[in-house]
Amino acid sequence: MNTDPKRVLVLGGGFAGVYTARYLEKLLWAEQASITLINRENYWVYQPMLPEVISGSIGLTNVVSPIRRLCSRTNLIMREVENIDLKTQVVTISPGFRPRQLLLEYDHLVIALGNITNFHGMPGMIENAMPFRTLADAMALRNHLIQVLEEADVEENPELRRQLLTFVVGGGGFSGVEVIAELNDFLHLVKRNYLHLRNEPHRCVIVQAGDRVLPEMPEALAIFAQRILRKRGVEIILNDRLKAATSEKAILQSGTEILCKTLISTVPSALPQVIQKLDCPKERGKLLVNTSLELKDYEGTVWALGDCASIKTVAGTKVPPTAQHAIREATTAAINIAAAVRGGERVEFGFEGLGTLGSLGHGAAVAQICGVKVSGLLAWFLWRSVYLMKMPGLNRKVRIATDWLLRLLFPPELAQTKVAGESGIRNQHFEPGDIIFQQGDLGDSVYVIEDGECEVVCERKGEQELLATLGHGEYFGEMALLSDKTRNATIRACSAVNVSIISKADFNKLRRSVPAFAEVFAELAKRRADAGSSQSSRPYLRA
Ligand SMILES: Cc1cc2nc3c(=O)[nH]c(=O)nc-3n(C[C@H](O)[C@H](O)[C@H](O)COP(=O)(O)OP(=O)(O)OC[C@H]3O[C@@H](n4cnc5c(N)ncnc54)[C@H](O)[C@@H]3O)c2cc1C
Repeated sequence: MNTDPKRVLVLGGGFAGVYTARYLEKLLWAEQASITLINRENYWVYQPMLPEVISGSIGLTNVVSPIRRLCSRTNLIMREVENIDLKTQVVTISPGFRPRQLLLEYDHLVIALGNITNFHGMPGMIENAMPFRTLADAMALRNHLIQVLEEADVEENPELRRQLLTFVVGGGGFSGVEVIAELNDFLHLVKRNYLHLRNEPHRCVIVQAGDRVLPEMPEALAIFAQRILRKRGVEIILNDRLKAATSEKAILQSGTEILCKTLISTVPSALPQVIQKLDCPKERGKLLVNTSLELKDYEGTVWALGDCASIKTVAGTKVPPTAQHAIREATTAAINIAAAVRGGERVEFGFEGLGTLGSLGHGAAVAQICGVKVSGLLAWFLWRSVYLMKMPGLNRKVRIATDWLLRLLFPPELAQTKVAGESGIRNQHFEPGDIIFQQGDLGDSVYVIEDGECEVVCERKGEQELLATLGHGEYFGEMALLSDKTRNATIRACSAVNVSIISKADFNKLRRSVPAFAEVFAELAKRRADAGSSQSSRPYLRA
């Protein structure tokens, strides 16, 4: 009998994934199961508090927690999940420092990859609208807000200044409302630091498709929220939605155009690519699971939970995509996985929710807890207490409480934390003998030699064969990208070499958008392939 520990693979390090790993650590010994979690970041984000990062109420890194500390017995792999093969039980992980994919086999799989903001079919949104979901989004938005304030302060043209001081948020759900409320608070507080903006009005607009904001809440609370927002100067546009955007304006379905330089969108959402291409039963794109959270057709092996799964409780209620549900789903999944590993009772998901809480900015919130509706200051205290309690770890609780206290005493932080954006084309230097890429690596870039020389070496049956030497102006690496195959030769610097590196994404973008560029490479690829097949010179160029 095989007594090796079962391999449990958890995909996603959000509420659902991290809490599943934490419960599994409690339920299973190391001899019974190894737990591996894959997430693209090494931290878990406390999304309900993310909007507070905008106003600086909470420090940037205090809304996240390192996954290694939250799940100390779990093996964390900070990479991108690229493919899930449910039939062979293998997950493909993106290359990291070395350009090689990682293939991980599993006995039990947890899919908890959340969802993403998707602007497909909305012209100009990808380029001009900012999503709000991750720490990077929050950081980018905060930096952008400070940037437009700095620009507005020196702008003499009143129309352009007005445009710079107009902020539009698409989506009137919890995250949209919390974002506009925090943003508005921030602007009110920091404008006094700008000599030319002190008496300048700003415009905050929220656009909601339905006839009221916060559709997740009872109508009375939503109406209260609208009243508070309007009192604080927020414009609410109902029964309309964002349709498109340019660098100058937001365009709504009704034809209304709002001149602005800041457009944030919290809707619509879609499933991550890796889930979209999974061939298994789904409902509106989400993974279809039973009440034990097992993926349909893969019961006992695959569990799906959180925002990426379509879940119903035992009572038949559709489960909403919220953090409080994701945490409870994690308990159910962990118990059932433990039962599958070492036997025992399975459980079904029956959590119907404790209530809803939404912040409206400093000193106001709306809440419905166990059927009781609360609004205003009391709800705000409740909101802060509940979310502080839910934050795992004393360390983060103390940091957040301290941030809140400091915010009562001092104005919000106004320094930008901008990091220089990386250009699409990078330069790199190699010393003689350095390997630029290795035979068998994945093709991730094209290289152009600026100066210096490199050798093309191919290994066949354990023997290394020198195929050619390349110099100034020559390039290599494109064939692996064009054919989507691994490198079939190693490139080694034989003198000091400087190269320009074009990433796969940029290379493909150029090929798509500049026909002449695509033609040059198609022609060259053909020539090189012909040269390779005729065994004449330069088969190396397939590298
Ligand atoms: C701004 C905002 C405010 C919110 N406020 C509240 C609130 O007040 N109350 C509440 O209950 N809920 C709130 N929510 C909703 C709540 O945060 C989500 O329902 C919850 O996070 C879902 O958990 P999840 O684990 O399914 O997904 P997520 O928390 O999104 O986690 C998914 C994880 O998978 C990772 N991932 C995705 N694809 C890949 C890949 N291919 N490779 C590697 N890693 C990948 C992501 O990086 C992420 O870490 C809010 C959400 C947002 C965005």
